[in-house]
Amino acid sequence: MQTHLRTHTCGQLRISDVGKSTTLCGWVQKTRDMGGLTFIDLRDRYGVTQLIVDKKSYARECVLQVSGTVIERESKNKNLPTGDIEIKATHIKVLNEAITPPFTIEDETDGGDELRMKYRYLDLRRNAVRKNLELRHRMAIETRNYLDKQQFLEVETPVLIKSTPEGARDFVVPSRIHAGDFYALPQSPQTFKQLLMVSGFDRYYQIVKCFRDEDLRADRQPEFTQIDCEMSFVEQEDVLQTFEGLARHLFKTVKGLDIPVLPRMSYADAMKYYGNDKPDTRFEMRFVELTHLVKGKNFKVFDEASLVVGICAKGVAEYTRKQLDELTEFVKRPQIGATGLVYARYNADGTIKSSVDKFYNEDELKKWALAFDAQPGDLFLIVSGEEHKARKALSELRLEMGTRLGLRNKNTFSCLWVVDFPLLEWNENDNNLLESLRGRWVAKHHPFTSPKPEDIALLSSNPGAVRANAYDMVINGVEVGGGSIRIYNKDLQAKMFETLGFSKEEAQTQFGFLMNAFEYGAPPHGGIAFGFDRLCSLFGGADSIRDFIAFPKNNAGKDVMIESPGAISEEQLNELHIQIKKEHHEKK
Ligand code: ASP
Repeated sequence: MQTHLRTHTCGQLRISDVGKSTTLCGWVQKTRDMGGLTFIDLRDRYGVTQLIVDKKSYARECVLQVSGTVIERESKNKNLPTGDIEIKATHIKVLNEAITPPFTIEDETDGGDELRMKYRYLDLRRNAVRKNLELRHRMAIETRNYLDKQQFLEVETPVLIKSTPEGARDFVVPSRIHAGDFYALPQSPQTFKQLLMVSGFDRYYQIVKCFRDEDLRADRQPEFTQIDCEMSFVEQEDVLQTFEGLARHLFKTVKGLDIPVLPRMSYADAMKYYGNDKPDTRFEMRFVELTHLVKGKNFKVFDEASLVVGICAKGVAEYTRKQLDELTEFVKRPQIGATGLVYARYNADGTIKSSVDKFYNEDELKKWALAFDAQPGDLFLIVSGEEHKARKALSELRLEMGTRLGLRNKNTFSCLWVVDFPLLEWNENDNNLLESLRGRWVAKHHPFTSPKPEDIALLSSNPGAVRANAYDMVINGVEVGGGSIRIYNKDLQAKMFETLGFSKEEAQTQFGFLMNAFEYGAPPHGGIAFGFDRLCSLFGGADSIRDFIAFPKNNAGKDVMIESPGAISEEQLNELHIQIKKEHHEKK
């Protein structure tokens, strides 16, 4: 990394370099006064090297160019790759002064979230954050290596496209030249990659920014990156194998791990056994349905429930009353929504004691134990109610128990495919969709997803029962990627739009270009897209995707460093033919 300003980096010199003259450049990490001498830790991207200089003080984070000789260190630092040597400085040039940073540039910093976001360029100097971006880089390179070997071509697709009312909300960009018209930013390159298949590109990929104007949620970014892929002349099996290969390649090259063949689980089973279409399979604790066992014993709550379902937590029958109350409070939280929790302890002595002993005698409870395939020492946790709600609540409780029991180690990876998703879902009130899409069927994946051929007949009679050739890759309870085999026949695509409540004209205006393309010889095709930020955070063993994005937005969708989104001038607004409602102006 030699340049005209330096001979080595701050992470480069070793004991074998003793005696060499060197010039380093970097930032002052730390200064220590020792009698007549000063020790400085000089830092750059590559590491830290210790300097000895004649007594003189330098401000933290000022930029130095230091020339001197490499000498052996008396007290070596085993924790540092450069820890055997130091530089006896003969010449120091201050390349730039620095004012005191608002937080310490250390692995353990004293800066809070917002402050570090505001000074993101300083936060990026910290090892932890830099390492995340190094991991991201490695993931991108290895993705390209793998896909290139598999004959995928990286093709760029446009960012200024047009609004399509099918998925989430679009971000739009007003056109200055075409008054009153708007571009939209892509939610994904979906239609373009399909058109590339019509063009005969056969295998396409792109590591690409996508934009979705969704409601703010913790750890959701309005712009995010996908590994977006499409293949021609394939069936679902080909796509699954190709991208299982990508996962295997990434785990091997980036983490040195060999992952087992990915199990396949149907959507129906995922919901039945985990109450979740992205089950965390690092641990079992599968759902057991007790509905038929518990009805008719005068316990009103169970009698009135359409589903009674539970999990068996191994070895925690001795949970205290307080711990059980905590779990009850947990499931009763509004975002979880259960009305209560029934529990039973299968004690070490073989007796079973439940919170509903009034209604169920020991014999009844033994039947529960059998259903759970339980051992003495286990704890049963049971919720009931409307089917969908009960499953959702138990799914949350299962994850909570997994966490409490230490079964969700971030360095253990459990990958699987979830397949056979429903094609459609009934949209009652999804806030992330336009209001005009409420009270109708919407595509579960997107409107270009192919129904399973054997289910096509159900499209008119029972749309909810139609299964799709759609699949998700799930790792540790996170949906890291999803895709489908596409419709490539104009008539079926038209039928799909009709099912989704589009008039012929609407379908033609919005998606005419795609349906027209299908008339010119579209090959069977399918693909997938991976959430790249999420994949990186998973590989990095982190919870938040923000730490793997160089300049992320905060949880309010804002970039507090550049202060975006922000107002624009009257002049710009006029040029864009936009009038802002008065009340918004006054707010500012
Ligand atoms: N475009 C889809 C998405 O963004 C992925 C795919 O079907 O390939 O979810």
